[in-house]
Amino acid sequence: MKWIAKKVACAALALLAAGACADLKKFAFPMAKFVPDQFVFDNQVGLFKGKYHTGVDFAGAKDAQILAVNFGKVEVVVPVGPKDFGLGNCVILSHLLPDGNKLYSLYGHLSRINEDIKPGVWVAQGHPVGIVGGSAWGELNKYPIHVHFEFKTAPVLGSPKKPAGKEQEVWFGYQSTPSEEWGYLDPYKIIGKVEALSFDEVGRGSGKQPLYWAEYDRLGGPSGFGVASGDVQRKGPTGQTVRYQRFTLPGKPDRLLAEGNTGVYAISGPMVEAFLAADIATLGSPLQGEHDAERSKAGTTGRIMEFEKGALVWSAKHGGFAVTGVTWERYQRFQTTAGKFGFPKASPSGGKQAFEGGSLPAE
Ligand SMILES: [Zn+2]
Repeated sequence: MKWIAKKVACAALALLAAGACADLKKFAFPMAKFVPDQFVFDNQVGLFKGKYHTGVDFAGAKDAQILAVNFGKVEVVVPVGPKDFGLGNCVILSHLLPDGNKLYSLYGHLSRINEDIKPGVWVAQGHPVGIVGGSAWGELNKYPIHVHFEFKTAPVLGSPKKPAGKEQEVWFGYQSTPSEEWGYLDPYKIIGKVEALSFDEVGRGSGKQPLYWAEYDRLGGPSGFGVASGDVQRKGPTGQTVRYQRFTLPGKPDRLLAEGNTGVYAISGPMVEAFLAADIATLGSPLQGEHDAERSKAGTTGRIMEFEKGALVWSAKHGGFAVTGVTWERYQRFQTTAGKFGFPKASPSGGKQAFEGGSLPAE
């Protein structure tokens, strides 16, 4: 056996673990306390029968709780059995990073998994995932009680990546070449150093409304739709609340979710700016999603989204503007973009709003 077993300075590690809890955004250790004078099987230097370990084995006291290393979502729950690939009772959580990428933490050889740990459930940092143990290849007669802990780039039990020529690799928990090549990350480079998005930033901290968040999940959640910027609520013209929130995703145009009394609608790209510049007290609740507007007589094309007391109308040529109140009533009588007036060219000013085909009176 060629593991390099490090004597753990327990006090120092426990202190680090406690310290990591002070900053809830930074990744923490998966246990509050480690057993003194026990082994930690390191990943970067540890070789077992010529294989590289894919994680770190943290030794713990019997029945110690295994804790979520950061705010995250339960992705995979596998009970000890023929499909555990040697990892025994195993849980994988996903954590959203500020750059939009996800990082996955894996907890293996648990003696049991807690009942509330089910796929799709979100957990806070420090939430108990299960109890430390030695299930499957964590065999208690051979090794101390420990958790096999990994950080990896995909929510899978084996290797996230398979280097060319090594697709047939069957070692779980070990790889034939350094573990980074297989999509594993060194926990010591992440714990206490890297941050994940918090509960509030992912957007679930502010008065969860089922319809709103169901739509958010349907559109892809934090990784597909974007990271929430904080929820805003305004009163509409008929007294109801219009709720909205901007979402950002690196490399993608910003998007927005708006909820009124008729449903939740997504707004994207330039319509987001038009919406944010509009006065909700005048515009009101969204009545439908944004869609293509009819071509104007001037040949302009663009987008339109109807609200209770107006619409957002956008064209690449003129920009996006809200048309509301009496202006909206007249504009509709003239078949909006397809009619005499075409697309708006400006916001109301001096009691008028300018359109391609002339001006309409505004309040
Ligand atoms: Zn291990």
